[in-house]
Amino acid sequence: MSVSVTVRVPAKVNVQLSVGGVRADGFHDLANVFLAVGLYDEVTVTPSDTLRVTCAGPDAAQVPLDRTNLAARAAEALAARYGRDANVHLHIAKDIPVAGGMAGGSADGAGALLACDALWGTGASRGELLDICAELGSDVPFSLVGGAALGTGRGERLTVLDVGGAFHWVFAMAARGLSTPAVFREFDRLGAGRDIPEPVASADLIDALAKGDPDALAATVSNDLQAAALSLFPELAATLAAGRAAGALTALVSGSGPTTAFLVPDAGSAERVARALRDSGTCRTVRTAPAPAPGATVLGD
Ligand code: ATP
Repeated sequence: MSVSVTVRVPAKVNVQLSVGGVRADGFHDLANVFLAVGLYDEVTVTPSDTLRVTCAGPDAAQVPLDRTNLAARAAEALAARYGRDANVHLHIAKDIPVAGGMAGGSADGAGALLACDALWGTGASRGELLDICAELGSDVPFSLVGGAALGTGRGERLTVLDVGGAFHWVFAMAARGLSTPAVFREFDRLGAGRDIPEPVASADLIDALAKGDPDALAATVSNDLQAAALSLFPELAATLAAGRAAGALTALVSGSGPTTAFLVPDAGSAERVARALRDSGTCRTVRTAPAPAPGATVLGD
C-alpha cells in the first residue's frame, strides 16, 4: 500500500503593499498585509526512489519541474534539517495562476513542507516550520499561516490579524506573467532620486479587516507596486477600469501582478463583476474567491 499526504494551500492578495528603500541585502523593507483567498493548490507527497515533481492544471507548462521548484526546495530543506533523504514524488494540482502575484510558488513550498512533515513524522514545531518557510521565500510563511497577517522585514515576519467577516473577491488573470524581481526593479527605477518613506501598516485598514467591513477595506487598500506593474504591463489599466465600471468597490493589482483583484460587496456582485470582466475581453480568465481562507491544511485529517 502506498502512503501519501495531500495538503491544500491558498493563494493570497495583498490588501496593503507598502515598499520602502532597498536594504543592504538587496531586499526592500515592506509593510505587507496579506489576505488568504479561496483559490487553492494541492500538493500530494508520496514516497519514491528519487525526488521528482509533477504538475497538472491550466498553467502547468510554466511550472519548473526541477530542483528549483519551491516544493522540491521545501522537501530538501526539511530533509536536510532532519538528516534524511528527500526521495518523494511531489504532485502539484495547480489552480493558482503562475507568476500572477498570488504567491502560487510560495503556496507549493509551504504545502510540500507540511505534507513532507506529516509523511515523515518529523515532529517539527510550528516555529521550526515557519523558520524553514522564511528561508524558502518572503511569502512562504504566510502560505502556511493563512487568514490575514501583517508581514514586515522583507515580508516574512508575520503578525496574525483578526478578520471579522467574509470579503468577496474577483480575480482577473492576465494573458502573460510578470516577474516579481522585474517589478521591484521598475519600482526602483520609477522612484529613483525620490525619498522613500519607511513603510508602515495602515491602522484604518487593519481596523476594516477586524470589522469585516468591505467598504472600509476598499477605502484603505493600497499597493505601491501597482504603478510599476502598470508601467511594465499597461494593458492592465483596461482590466482595472472594466471591473470598476462593473461595480467593484475597489480594483487593484494583486502583489507584483499581473493578476488584478476586485473587492465586491457580496457573492452575488462577485458573479456580476466576474461576468462583466469576462465580457470585457481584457483578461485571460476570471475567478471568484471568498476570503479569508485557512492556511496550508492536511486533507483527510
Ligand atoms: P509572488 O506573488 O510570491 O511574488 P507569483 O505568484 O507572482 O509570486 P509564482 O507563481 O510563485 O509567482 O511563480 C514565480 C516563478 O517561480 C515562476 O515563474 C517559476 O519559474 C518559479 N516557481 C518555482 N516553483 C514554482 C511553483 N511550485 N509553482 C509556480 N512557479 C514556481
